[in-house]
Amino acid sequence: MIEPFLYDLPTKIYFGFGKLNELPALLKDCGVQRAVLVCDRFFAEKGEALRQSAPQIAAVFSDVEPNPQLSGVKETARLVKETAADTVIALGGGSSIDTAKYAAAVACSDLSSEEHFNGVPLTAAKKIIAIPTTAGTGSEVTSVSVISRGNDKKTTHNPVFQPTACIVDPALTMTVPARTTLITGLDAFTHAIEAFWSVRHSALTDALATEALRVIIANLEASFTEATKESRTAMAYGSLLAGLAFSNAKTAGCHACSYPLSMYHHLPHGEACAFTLDSFIRLNADDRLESLAKTLGFADCDALADEIYRLKVKGGLRVRFADCDGELDLNRLATESAEHMLMRNNPVQLSVDELKAMFAALK
Ligand SMILES: [Zn+2]
Repeated sequence: MIEPFLYDLPTKIYFGFGKLNELPALLKDCGVQRAVLVCDRFFAEKGEALRQSAPQIAAVFSDVEPNPQLSGVKETARLVKETAADTVIALGGGSSIDTAKYAAAVACSDLSSEEHFNGVPLTAAKKIIAIPTTAGTGSEVTSVSVISRGNDKKTTHNPVFQPTACIVDPALTMTVPARTTLITGLDAFTHAIEAFWSVRHSALTDALATEALRVIIANLEASFTEATKESRTAMAYGSLLAGLAFSNAKTAGCHACSYPLSMYHHLPHGEACAFTLDSFIRLNADDRLESLAKTLGFADCDALADEIYRLKVKGGLRVRFADCDGELDLNRLATESAEHMLMRNNPVQLSVDELKAMFAALK
C-alpha cells in the first residue's frame, strides 16, 4: 500500500536542448524585471553574451571559485542591492548555484554575509533562477547551499534557497570534459540511489529515483566515452530526476562520508561520493535494493556494485586511499562520517567500527 507523503517543490522547470536561447522570454515568464548573473571565470564570456541578449540582466559577477567563498556571496549581494535587482541568475555547476542562493538571501537582509555565516538565519530571498552547466549536482531543484569562508565549509538547508525556476539545457553540458562528466554523473547516480534507500523515501521519490537510475545507468558510460548529444541530454534529464528525488528524500551514507573524504583527501564532491558508493550498495543490500538492482538489469546488488567499480576504474577515478592525497586516519574518517547528520538517513545504522572496517577495505 502507498504510505502517505508530502512532496514539496515550488520550482518551475524548463528543460530542453537549446532552451537557453529563449532566456529573455523565460525571464519574462518568471516575472523577472532586473537580474544579476553569477558564474565562474570559465563562463564569463557566456555570461556576458547572455547579458547582451537578455535586457533583464543588469550585471554579471564572474568570479565564483570552485569551493564557493563567502567573499563571492558578499560581492554578488552588493551588486544585487546596487542594481536594485529582483533576481539572481546562476550559470554554472554547484558552486555558482550555491553562491546565487546565498547571495539572493543576503541581499534581502540588513545584516552582513558574515553575521549570517556565523549563524543568524536568512529569512527571505530574491528570486533565484538556476541554469546548471553540468549534469550532476541537482542543486537547481534543492534548497541546499554549500559556502566556505577559507577552509570553513558550511552546508545550509533553507527553504528560501529553493530556486524560483531552473533552465536545464543539455547543450551546455556538451563541452564538459569526460572525467568531469563521469564524476558529476556518479554524483547524480548517488543522489538517486540514496534517495531510494533513504529512511525518508516515499512512493513518489522512489518513482523519481528509479527512473533516474534507469536513465543514468543506460547513458553514463556513453556520456563520458562518446559525448553524444543523446547521452548528454539523457544525463541532464537523469540528473534532474535524481535532484527531484533527493530534494525531498535527502541523501544518506555516501554523502555523509563524502565530506571528510573531500576535506582530508581532496576528492571533488562527486568522486568522494563515488568512492564509497559500491561499498554502500553492498552494505545496504536488502530485499528492496535487490529488487531495484534487478529492475536496473543486474543479477543482484553485488553485480550493480561491480558495475559502479568498473566505471570508476574505466574513467580513471580513485578507488583506493593509496591513490589519494592526505594521510589516512581511519578513526577520524569513521567518527566524522558517523556523526554527520545525513548518516541518520542511511537504512542500515552503521557503528563507527563498521565504518572503519568499510574504509579499511579501501586502503
Ligand atoms: Zn552530491
